[in-house]
Amino acid sequence: MILLNSMEPMNLLIICLLFFNVLFIGIALFLVYQLFKKNSSSSSKESLPEPEAPKSPVAEVLDREPLKYVCAFHPDRDPVGVCAICEAACCESCLREWEHLNFCSDHIKLYAAHKWEPITNERTTANSPEASSYIYEFKKNIWSQGVPSFIVTHYRIEIESDIVESYVQLFVKLEDKVALSSMILQKKGAQKLPSH
Ligand SMILES: [Zn+2]
Ligand SMILES: [Zn+2]
Repeated sequence: MILLNSMEPMNLLIICLLFFNVLFIGIALFLVYQLFKKNSSSSSKESLPEPEAPKSPVAEVLDREPLKYVCAFHPDRDPVGVCAICEAACCESCLREWEHLNFCSDHIKLYAAHKWEPITNERTTANSPEASSYIYEFKKNIWSQGVPSFIVTHYRIEIESDIVESYVQLFVKLEDKVALSSMILQKKGAQKLPSH
């Protein structure tokens, strides 16, 4: 106290500034150290296997569908088309074309081994693009239960009257036709109810 009192006010100010300087440098060094520690601990965590945690449904979907669009059978190759039955992306060597349809190497055999019959012929226009969405849903649904089908779309374009129509046909195996016809009619009815 005696020392401080005997000092000039200017000296006291310099001492205070020096003290705060040291304090700030100390805080800054501490923060840098913390940041470094956090980074090194997160990078060391990457090398360890992650513990199995339950995944949300959204995370599972993201896991299943890779963000990069590649051949489903050759992850290093670009796809050139999609299988009409399983919708797997196929590269040039995987894709098989027959009667204007694309298939993966497994499902070209399935296609060739059966007779196929259409169970829908849904008209879709620019004003009703959703009219056939139930068909795509139905196809996904039955495929998840192992029942194959494929969609063929016919376009009708009238240039003079500017009409663009498409007719969406879902083809199923002949032996599945009767059962799936009534199932898809129910699905179509269920889709149309909410709009009334
Ligand atoms: Zn396929
Ligand atoms: Zn491939």
